[in-house]
Amino acid sequence: MKLKMKKKKVNYSEVLSPNFSRRNKKIKYIIIHYTGTKSLIETLNIFKDKSSQVSCHWLISKRGKLYKIVDEENIAWHAGTSFWKGENNLNDSSIGIELDNIGHGIHYKTFSNIQMKVLEKLLNILIKKYNIKKQNVLGHSDIAPDRKLDPGELFNWSRLEKKNLAYYPEIKKYKYRNIFFKLGDKNIEIKIIKKKLNKIGYKCSQNNCFDTGLKLVVEAFQRRFLPEKINGIIDSKVYSRIIHVSKNT
Ligand SMILES: [Zn+2]
Repeated sequence: MKLKMKKKKVNYSEVLSPNFSRRNKKIKYIIIHYTGTKSLIETLNIFKDKSSQVSCHWLISKRGKLYKIVDEENIAWHAGTSFWKGENNLNDSSIGIELDNIGHGIHYKTFSNIQMKVLEKLLNILIKKYNIKKQNVLGHSDIAPDRKLDPGELFNWSRLEKKNLAYYPEIKKYKYRNIFFKLGDKNIEIKIIKKKLNKIGYKCSQNNCFDTGLKLVVEAFQRRFLPEKINGIIDSKVYSRIIHVSKNT
């Protein structure tokens, strides 16, 4: 079968999942995941199994083979408990794309070029079809920072931004100095940072405590916007990046 959009064509195979529900909400988001399984067959078996209660709309193998799992007009069960910009249950308003990748651990590997190319073609089609803002192309860890790490720091958001398929503002010079907040700290400045993270979309309690929730959000932010180091600490670099990213969201 073929997905078409003007000159762009993507071939796909159907391996349909029984795990879906009826969609009532408009599609507004695209959520990118990794499968976290050892093999593609394992993933396909999970999606085919009714008792697994999980699915997605599209799955891309390491070799760039595309599978349709759930029809876009239905809700696939990929996001679980989730939050972004004041909205809960992102499954209702999103399309879920899974990338075959073993995930975090000693074998966590970068996503192959052919896999990324197919993802780019698919995103191009979906973004136009549903008129999705590039700020609304998200990672699973963005919307569930307390539970999920995927697609993780090896996923190349910058590559997608260059093709206008995701939001990843260019890293500028870090202009703020002498900022250092970590778990357990209390400071009025922390409340302001939480507000900024909240503006970007992340779920943050609005107080001046650097709690575990904030640490997990900072890690998710680093995975997404500053992937060179993930430590859940707000230093001048992380602070500058939060300010910068929050400006255009
Ligand atoms: Zn996921």
